[in-house]
Amino acid sequence: MAYEKLELLINGKFSAGTSGKSEPVINPATEEVIGHVPHASAADLDEAIAAACDGFKVWKATPAVQRQAIMEATARILEDRKAEMAENLTLEMGKPVGEAAMELDFTISVLRWYAEEGKRAYGRLVPARVPGMRQMVTKEPVGPVAAFVAWNFPGVNVIRKVAGALGAGCSIVIKASEETPGTCVAIARAFQDAGLPDGVLNVVFGVPDEVSRHLLADPRLRKLSFTGSVPIGKHLQRLAADNLMRCTMELGGHSPVIVFDDADVQKAAQMAAGFKYRNAGQVCVSPTRFFVQDSVADEFADAFVDATKKVKVGNGMDDGVAMGPLIGERRLGIMQDFVDDAVASGAELMHGGERMGNQGYFYTPTVLKNVPEDAKIMNEEPFGPVAPIASFESFDEVVARANKLMFGLASYAFTNDGARAAALADQIEAGMLAVNSFVVSTPETPFGGINESGYGAEGGIEGLDAYLRTKFVTEVGV
Ligand code: NAD
Repeated sequence: MAYEKLELLINGKFSAGTSGKSEPVINPATEEVIGHVPHASAADLDEAIAAACDGFKVWKATPAVQRQAIMEATARILEDRKAEMAENLTLEMGKPVGEAAMELDFTISVLRWYAEEGKRAYGRLVPARVPGMRQMVTKEPVGPVAAFVAWNFPGVNVIRKVAGALGAGCSIVIKASEETPGTCVAIARAFQDAGLPDGVLNVVFGVPDEVSRHLLADPRLRKLSFTGSVPIGKHLQRLAADNLMRCTMELGGHSPVIVFDDADVQKAAQMAAGFKYRNAGQVCVSPTRFFVQDSVADEFADAFVDATKKVKVGNGMDDGVAMGPLIGERRLGIMQDFVDDAVASGAELMHGGERMGNQGYFYTPTVLKNVPEDAKIMNEEPFGPVAPIASFESFDEVVARANKLMFGLASYAFTNDGARAAALADQIEAGMLAVNSFVVSTPETPFGGINESGYGAEGGIEGLDAYLRTKFVTEVGV
């Protein structure tokens, strides 16, 4: 099948831009070059900013019901193109094609949710202290947006920014990952085909640091939204500070999973292993620190290993494959380093722990037991298919260990004790907590972290609000 034609989208026109530069896009399962993504020149970036400014005026003045209609038309086009887009997503990112299709379903749901919610960007009337005065609080779109997103969810990462911005009435310049550009381009084509006015959505690619420095130096862009790692998030926030741009930061996590002795241990292990290897563990809310209460720790680890052994690893285009490759060669070395360090620190390697084959960036689903607290993997985000399991004795101890890191994205617990669940909800330092499931991401609920995992949720009414600003208007005698 043909991979997506990779182009920039600037002011409603798809093109290769004017730099003459590009870089190869690699299929991580085969290491084959599947396309070349063009780099935007400085002039292209300036044109994209100017287009976003013009597009903003048009889109802001478009009634929310009409914006919703165009976004809904886009959702229908994406539905029609889903099968082809899923294959492209697998080619560029590696996840199994069924998982890619599910990601696109979620992508479409997020688009629809923001489209609808944009109709409800309500303000309020506040009773005045002065007779005859009317006090209004209104919400208006914050302005043209700059967005940068990582490669792990080529559809969802993009739509969370684009639909949030467009739902609120903002325009956007987005740089998706150069490693997975095809899905972003396909989404952009759907928007243009649905009749989105020129300049409302602009897509650029290039050397990430050059593009972000260029865009964030321009005071006409009024908001930054980023999904990626903590160090890059901090760097971009510093750049955005010069123009006091508002920021939304969706950064990394190191999500604890706390399994108490009263839980259904077998079920918890099955569910945990299923979620752990989704997207080969390259998920910001992936479960990454397993704390299991002493008396059930061995039972949990054994069941987890049994489930791990059943995970079929391979090319995501092949039938029955449950886990694809890592995104790039660099991630293989990082995984090996985590595993070797854990074993050297005294952890027991129960399964996996090595690269698979020598073509494609495949790493075995890996389980480590009795992992000491000071092992690197218990402190740094693994972002891969390695599950470190440790045990704990008491509630207070495990909460302190779970809260120890500066991350605070997702957290999970398995217990049938309502009081424990309530105490945990109160005490856990995380933006999200799921008890007896791994459900933390839906279109209509806020998704986001605290502390170094970032701030400013996506999804839910909070997600729309991130693209709105407040205006207070008083009127007398009118
Ligand atoms: P990375 O930090 O180098 O890159 C992450 C993403 O940010 C990439 O898509 C990259 O293109 C982009 N990026 C990098 N520098 C940038 C810059 N100066 N300006 C704009 N964008 C820039 O890391 P990586 O090796 O590609 O991915 C692994 C790490 O990324 C993990 O440790 C994980 O923490 C993080 N990550 C987080 C998420 C998330 O959803 N929070 C998603 C993907 C990756």
